[in-house]
Amino acid sequence: MERTILVIEDEQNINDILTFSLSKEGYKTLSALDGIKGLEMALTENPDLILLDVMLPGLDGWEVCKKIRESSQVPIIMLTAREDEIDKILGLELGADDYITKPYSMRELAARVKANLRRSAVVPPVPETKPENQDTIISGDLAINVERYEVSKNGEVIDITLREFELLRFLAMQPDKIFSREKLLENVWGYEYYGDVRTVDVTVRRLREKIEDDPSMPKYIITKRGVGYYFNK
Ligand code: CA
Repeated sequence: MERTILVIEDEQNINDILTFSLSKEGYKTLSALDGIKGLEMALTENPDLILLDVMLPGLDGWEVCKKIRESSQVPIIMLTAREDEIDKILGLELGADDYITKPYSMRELAARVKANLRRSAVVPPVPETKPENQDTIISGDLAINVERYEVSKNGEVIDITLREFELLRFLAMQPDKIFSREKLLENVWGYEYYGDVRTVDVTVRRLREKIEDDPSMPKYIITKRGVGYYFNK
C-alpha cells in the first residue's frame, strides 16, 4: 500500500531533498512551504505521516501541530535544529510523536519515518466495552487495561498519551525486570538505532506525574541508577 507523507518545510531546497528522498523510498509525497498551507493540506489530503519543521512562516510548527491534533492522530515528526526546541517538544504535550534534529542523515530520517508508520499501523482501534478481566494488570491502586489502552488510579481513569501508555504497559508486563533506556527506546519507540535517550527520561517523568502519589518518591516506576528503569509490582 502506498503511503503518503506530507513535508511542511519552508526552505525550498530542504523540502525538495526530503520529498525526493522519500519518493525514492517508495512513498508518495506532498509538500507545503508554509504553516498555513501545510495545515490545510494536513487536514484535506489525509497523509499517513507528516514531517513538520518548527520554524515556519505564517503559522509555526507548534501551532500547526496543535491544530492538526484537534482532529487527527496522524503521526507527526518535528524537524528541529535547536536544543531548546527539543526540550519544548518533549516538555509540552503538543501531540508530536517524534522529532529529528538537524542535521540528520536521510538514512536516519527514513528509519524514523518507517518506525512511526509501523507504530501507527499497529495501534489497535479502541475495542468495544469489555468487562475487566485478565487483560488488566493490577498493582496497588493502579489498574492498567492493556486491551483498552486505559489506566486508572483508585478507580479514576487517567489522561495518558499513547506513548506513555506503551511505556507503562511494557514495564508493567515484566515487573521487577530492569530495562536500560536504550532497550526501552528500541521496544517502546521502535527504533533500531537512536542516540537520544532523554526521550525516555522525559516520558518517565510525565508518567510519574500522572500515576505516582509523589512523583519525587515513585512507587511504581523505579530508577535503577546507572542502569535504567523497572516496574515495581
Ligand atoms: Ca524553517
